Parts: sequence; structure tokens; C-alpha cells
Amino acid sequence: MHFNTLKSLPAGRLAEGLLVRDTILPMADPERPQEREHVGGRSGFIKETEAEALKLVQSRANEYEFRSPENVVWIRDVLKKIDFQELHNIYREVARRAGVRDINFVLPHHIYPRGTDELGDAADADYDPISNAISLDGDLVARVRMIESNGEKLAVSLILQQIAHEYAHATGYVAHGEIELDQGERISAVRMGLNQTLYNHTEDRGTDYYTMFELFNEGATEHIATLVSREYLRRLPLDTPSGGTLKLLEFDEFLKIVDRDKDDYGAAVEFFNRLSAHISKECEVSQEIVQGAFIRAYYRGEALPAGLLDETVGKEFTKMLMRAKDAKYLKKLTRDYSLLSLSPSLRERWARFIESVRRAVR
Ligand SMILES: [Zn+2]
Repeated sequence: MHFNTLKSLPAGRLAEGLLVRDTILPMADPERPQEREHVGGRSGFIKETEAEALKLVQSRANEYEFRSPENVVWIRDVLKKIDFQELHNIYREVARRAGVRDINFVLPHHIYPRGTDELGDAADADYDPISNAISLDGDLVARVRMIESNGEKLAVSLILQQIAHEYAHATGYVAHGEIELDQGERISAVRMGLNQTLYNHTEDRGTDYYTMFELFNEGATEHIATLVSREYLRRLPLDTPSGGTLKLLEFDEFLKIVDRDKDDYGAAVEFFNRLSAHISKECEVSQEIVQGAFIRAYYRGEALPAGLLDETVGKEFTKMLMRAKDAKYLKKLTRDYSLLSLSPSLRERWARFIESVRRAVR
């Protein structure tokens, strides 16, 4: 997730002043100040801001289409072969398991191919919560298509996995709201899945923003994306533009080829698995149940159990996890916090947490 419509100033006041916070603060919806946060779905965005952000995404997409019409036509061909109704059904099933009935969805015509240079920040794709639109890197897809022998199937696999990733962001809890700081000052915030972005409009420096739990959220997102894209291929064949069909086995090959260890998202997925495996082992529940608890928080907008995480993994672990932005940082985290064995009372509290999330869902 990247805020394409905002200017990034990581060294600004937010990063300096608010980093001391180690957990996500509850938000109020500015349009319904008395109302409790919604459970699931997308809420709190102001129509005019939304329309303005969408116009910006579209105008950049139009420039790209003018420059690389062939790439855009090819990607649209692939998109036409994806059954978005079935894809929506799969996300709805994931959300239902989290106790969420109404999910947000992105209309297929709001998926825009864009240039590598425009996406920035090493992102291959992007979901913008403000415009509720998705961008795909059309140049990258074109480069993958050029790969000898099976380039087309790899490019279709790439599009499917990227769409599954961005739709996980879009169907998870997405909300715009305000949070109140200690001094009573209110600032804007966007919660998306397990992360929260705080931002501050300053007269001289544009918009300053800071995202908490960004990389951990990406790990959870990629985990959901792989579950969904594989389930999609189990249900339906996906035809390629030149008349072939992408099979689940070939897609699994694609997942293996992508050298996940080297990129930040790969490291985030590994970290997500490592943490859930540890809790699963110590609490004697399946890893699926632990991951399910994180996914529920992702779809319902609930906070991570910071106290439990710190006691389980180590002092200030949650705060460090909140700041993680790249693979190098996660490696350091893994080194610094060798996962400790749980005491019986901690194990009991994790079991209660997991049980309470499950109960809340019924
Ligand atoms: Zn993402």
C-alpha cells in the first residue's frame, strides 16, 4: 500500500513525535462522530476527496496508456478472463470466517496499468484506500512476458497474485478517521488491515505521514493473497490471452520461482509464519487457528494484543514490529528476539485471546 496521492516525508514531526506509541489508537469516523467503529468493510472516506484521488489515478493511467497502449491492451485481456464474481465470493468466505458480512470490493474497471517509474517505492502494484482503485505495473508485466518459453503464463500468474494481494487490502478493514492525541489535538488516520497510517497536514511541508505495522501487515496480506489465488485456481481455470490455460501446478511453480527470500514482502511472509508457528506450538493449537486470529483482526480492524506479544517474544517487540519497513529490519528483529519458551500462564492467556476472538465471531 502506498499513498500515491500524498507526499512522503518520513523525517517529519509524526515520525519524531508519534513513534513513541507502540500500539494502534482507536479512531472516530469524522462523519459519524458518535458512532462506534464499524466492524469490517470500508468507511469514513469523504466523497469529494475520493473523487479527487480517483481523478489523479485515472489521469496518470491515461498517460501510461498513451505511452504503452500495447501493454494496457494485454493486461485488460487477462483481466477479462478473471471471474471477479468468483474472486469476490472467495474473499467473502474469508471475511465471513472473521465474522464480517459486508466487504468492500474494487470494480474491475478501477484496476489501472501504470508505469514502473510512477508506482515508486519498489511497489509492483498498489491499492489506494482513498480512491479505492488498484494500480498494476504494466512495464513489469511486459518484461515478464518476454521471458523465454513460459513468459505468458508467468505474466498471468503475476497479475493474478498481484490482484489477489491488492484485493486482500481492499476487502480487509479499511477506514478513515481521526484519533485524539494526549494534548487533545486530533489528526487524520487510515486503518488498513493490521496497519494504521497517521497523517498530518502542514502548511509548509505538505502532508507528513507515518505507517505503523506496515511490513507485518504486508506479510498477512501476502498470506491471504496466496490462500485466495490458489483457491481461485482450484475452482476455475484461468485462460491466457493466446489460448492456453494456467493450472494450479504452474501457478505454484511461479510462486517458487519468485525469489521471496530476497524481497521485503517475502521476508514479511516468513516472519508472519514464524511468529504464528511459535505461538501455535506453545499454545498447542494449530497454526491455522493462530493465523486465523490475525486474519480476523485484519478483517475486523481490531488491535494486535501488544502486551501478549511483548511477553511472548520480548520486551518492546510490538513497538519494533510496528516500525519494521524492510527485510533487513525483520532479520535483525529475528536475531534480537530469539523466540522464548512460554510460561504456563502466558500460554493460558494466548489461549484465552484466541478463544475470545473466535467467540466474537459467532
Ligand atoms: Zn500490499
